[in-house]
Formats: sequence, structure tokens, C-alpha cells
Amino acid sequence: MAHLINGVCWTRGFRVQRSGLMSLYVYFTTLIAALGLAAESISAAHGKAREHSAAPEEPSITFNSVHLDGPYIAMTFDDGPSEKLTPKLLDLLAAHHIKATFFVIGENVTEHPEIVARAAQEGHEIGNHSWSHPNFGKMSDDGVRSQLQRTDDAIKNATGERPTLMRPPYGSITAHEKHWIHDEFGYRIILWDVDPYDWKRPGPAVVRSRILKETQPGSIVLSHDIHPGTIEAMPSTLDALEAKGFKFVTVSELIRMAVPKASRPSPQPGGNASTNAIPEVSPSPTPTPQASPAR
Ligand SMILES: [Zn+2]
Repeated sequence: MAHLINGVCWTRGFRVQRSGLMSLYVYFTTLIAALGLAAESISAAHGKAREHSAAPEEPSITFNSVHLDGPYIAMTFDDGPSEKLTPKLLDLLAAHHIKATFFVIGENVTEHPEIVARAAQEGHEIGNHSWSHPNFGKMSDDGVRSQLQRTDDAIKNATGERPTLMRPPYGSITAHEKHWIHDEFGYRIILWDVDPYDWKRPGPAVVRSRILKETQPGSIVLSHDIHPGTIEAMPSTLDALEAKGFKFVTVSELIRMAVPKASRPSPQPGGNASTNAIPEVSPSPTPTPQASPAR
């Protein structure tokens, strides 16, 4: 506070007088006290300004989905690896030539590092989903830091690379945590926009229909490779998504495809018909209607 008062009041407001009349020093020290409140509000205003200027960066730290042109989506699987289910899922993804993203639990990584290594080798992305799945929103910074660091290390040991993505368990994270985690670990915070609530085990048909109903271009689809019903739902879910024209990429690839909303060349018309949900693959920003390729 004292530093700010000096910075704001002395150097800007009273420099001329100070240099000319040293005897006024006493006057100014009294004035400083009087201006304390004003300086405080300046400080608050600065704080606000910083918050505001940081706000536009927020989307580059946290993602629920990605605004892009093209039929791209990211399938994400949390809480694994599971000894039995994750290899089955990896077989299925390989058969479809689909790249997905796995948000793994550190404890499970140390139990089955070979499964995480396989996923990474086969082109899937590995993200940090904490060590033991606690609620970050209710934890101390040190507790969160330890959860993330141990898992970061376990992933590095298993795959040779450190993750660049993090998903907080339950999606629970404070704004403060988002920022220091991003600063310290370099992570992007990945949430989701499609949630089939598969952890409630509603059955494969429901998991599939929920995913098919909600997924749109740029979607980040949440599910869990620790529930048998989810793995059971996946063959027909992936078939149906492919039939709708969707293409599958990792979350980091999806983020790299992001385009600013303002500069989107061809905004989609409103409506919820499934035909509208599938964009044409038209990477050129200049409209070339005749040359528009098929999905
Ligand atoms: Zn989870």
C-alpha cells in the first residue's frame, strides 16, 4: 500500500512541488494519510483493470468446447486407466483410426503404466486428472499442487512426456486455481460440453443417445473408461458419429483448430436439425460455393 501511495501520489501528482520546496515534505506526509483512501480505490481500480484485461485470455486457459470450422470433435475418457476396459477401448479406437484424449488418475497410472504408454504410443493424448480424484474446489493450493505434480510425474514416467492438459475432478475448480495452475504447470483446463452422465450407469443405449444428441462441431465429449456400459456403448456411438460426418481429434488438436468467433467466415444458420449440426469441410475462408466439397 505504502509503495502504491508513493508511486501514485508523489511521482505523478506532486513532483514539481517536491523538487522545489523540501519543506513541504511534512505537508505531504499528512496529505498522504488523507489520500490513503483515494489511493486504495485507485489500487482497487487497478486490480479490476487487471482482471478485466485478463478476462479475454480466459478462453485460452479453459475450454468447454472449441469454436472452429469443420466437423471436428474430441472424445475424452476419464478416471482410468482401467486394467480391463481401457485396452478394449484402445482396440476399438485403433480399429476406427480415432485419436482420443485420456484424463488419467495418477494412482491408476502407477498401477498400469503400460496401458498409458500404449495409449500415448497409439497417438492418443494423455491429460492430468489428479492423483486420487479429490474436489479441487475445496482444497488448499498445496494440496492441489501435490495432486497435480505427482500425476504429472507418473505420466512422464509412463509415456516419456509431460501432459499439457488438466481436467479437474467433477469439473470443480476455482478461478484462482485455474490461473495459478496455468502459470505453474502450463496446463490448459479442459472441461466439456457433452456429458452423457455415464458414471450413473444409465446403460449403453442411453449413453449413446445422449452423446449423439448433444455433440456438435467443436464439442468435447466427456465419458469414463472405467464403466463397462460406456465401453459397450462406444462401438455403435462411434459408428453413428462417423455416419454423421464427425472427425475425431485430440483435445490439443481441437484447440489448435480454434477460430475467433468474430472472424468465422460462414456462421451456421439457427435451428437444431441434425443437418445443421454437421458442417461442410470448407477450410477456405473465401466462399467458393461451386467447389464446396462433400462431407
Ligand atoms: Zn473424473
